[in-house]
Amino acid sequence: MKFSIMTLFPEIISGYCNQSIIKRACEKGIIETEIINPRDFTLDKHKKVDDTPYGGGAGMVLMAQPFVDAYESIVKIENSQTIMLTPQGEIFNDKMSNELASFDQIILICGHYEGFDERIRTIIQPREISIGDFVLTGGELPALCMLDAISRKIEGTLGKIESAHHDSFSAGLLEHAQYTKPRSFRGLEVPEVLLNGNHAEIEKFRLEDSIARTKAKRKDLFDNWNKS
Ligand code: SAM
Repeated sequence: MKFSIMTLFPEIISGYCNQSIIKRACEKGIIETEIINPRDFTLDKHKKVDDTPYGGGAGMVLMAQPFVDAYESIVKIENSQTIMLTPQGEIFNDKMSNELASFDQIILICGHYEGFDERIRTIIQPREISIGDFVLTGGELPALCMLDAISRKIEGTLGKIESAHHDSFSAGLLEHAQYTKPRSFRGLEVPEVLLNGNHAEIEKFRLEDSIARTKAKRKDLFDNWNKS
């Protein structure tokens, strides 16, 4: 999987990708990242990428030319999907991360300031994705959220892909409670059932815990799971 990320702030992306699980996935060749900076495609000597909005108003709007030229410079692999990060897009979720993990290339276009000149959307015609109903200063964090969530769904990124299969949302429920050593901490004990080695009983306990906590914390998820 190749992630081609268009951003005016490459260090935000490279800083994150140089850590922990994502760094190891890059080293193992499971994922590859490429950063394209629209500032390198400006035609004026000041490397201007934004300007004031027509019609007036606060803030700066990202100019079409550097973004469209930067996008057109990206070598597109056959099975590729182009995504614009925008609070106006469809909301990202676990199901989408599974679907996107089947592509060979994901192109992520990060905005900043007041957002994109509308002609960038019109020309590129990307899929538009939001990470939630709130507004961030830039698309870099949303791009990294997506890169991280999608990478976890690719075989080899996690030590065991089963970890992702048991995570919250994968079966429509939140994950059960987890415990590690020591057995007793400040008077709080690990549930006895997890210590007896009876796998059928452990599975039953975990499923019941998943159902109970989903019902308590996310009634919407629980109702969907209960219907199916
Ligand atoms: N003026 C825009 C609007 O109201 O729709 C918001 C622009 S926002 C300040 C700057 C950039 O951050 C956006 O172009 C987008 O790339 C990114 N961004 C902000 N919030 C986001 C979200 N919830 N999901 C995805 N991208 C987001």
